[in-house]
Amino acid sequence: MPDFQKSIDSIYKEVLESPDSSTVASYIPELASVESSKFGIHLIDTNQHNYAAGNSGEKFSVQSISKVLTLSMALGLIGEKIWRRVDVEPSGDPFNHLSLLEQENGIPRNPLINAGAIVIADILVTELENPKEDFLTYVRNLADDTSISYDEKVALSEKGTGFKNYAAANLLKSYGNLRNDVEDVLDFYFHQCSLSMSCKQLCDTFYLFMNRGRCKRDIGYLDINQIKRINALMLTCGFYDEAGEFAFEVGLPGKSGVGGGIVALLPNEFCVATWSPGLNKKGNSARGMQALERLTTMTELSIF
Ligand code: GLN
Repeated sequence: MPDFQKSIDSIYKEVLESPDSSTVASYIPELASVESSKFGIHLIDTNQHNYAAGNSGEKFSVQSISKVLTLSMALGLIGEKIWRRVDVEPSGDPFNHLSLLEQENGIPRNPLINAGAIVIADILVTELENPKEDFLTYVRNLADDTSISYDEKVALSEKGTGFKNYAAANLLKSYGNLRNDVEDVLDFYFHQCSLSMSCKQLCDTFYLFMNRGRCKRDIGYLDINQIKRINALMLTCGFYDEAGEFAFEVGLPGKSGVGGGIVALLPNEFCVATWSPGLNKKGNSARGMQALERLTTMTELSIF
């Protein structure tokens, strides 16, 4: 095993010293107020040893990272039926693009772009008795951490400016691929995106995707084939129109969010999360990508 702490310490120094031309997301007003200089990294290995640097314990808005967690909950609840309503192909488009949705008759390209995640949110709103509470409980159980919660201010802020998501939900509804009311589904979606978590909590939550479907407490949530599918989707679709670049530079399945978080994993080895709010032009954390490229290059550990 490489000396993860040594690698993380040197990456932390290197990343903070390099020039930064990224910008913090401002289309969700509440996200614009986050300090752009924050940077944290946390890694957990299969022996549950933890390695960290910087602001790794500070909570931030996970945004689209939550799409993996809703997908995993929905897959556990209704299984393969999901794929009748959402496809598994990379879109090559930004996360909020709508053109393909029209061309492909309301079947979103994959569950990790906004339209696909809105269909998954619709499935959960149908299946769960108390959708927001039940999903939060699911995440808390995965992480074994009851301090994880929604950030109501962020959810409300996105509700006020989420016009593209309203457009996506209405388009889905017009094609018959949304069963519940647009308002109910988007209320759930804005809340899932508003989950507030630290790099450490993300590693704890995503542990099962690295550990063949078993969470940190060794409870099985998904079988190995379901985990294979989710990891494949993270690799091919986790970074929107930059998924190729992430596979090329980093070589791990992962997922980003416009709050500046990235979580990535090497099956049966480790799970790592970074947070730096400055985004590149494709909406992915610039320093997070840089840090993860350094990590897999330095340790020579990637899926390739
Ligand atoms: N809540 C955000 C949105 O729907 C999530 C986008 C993201 O993190 N890429 O626009």
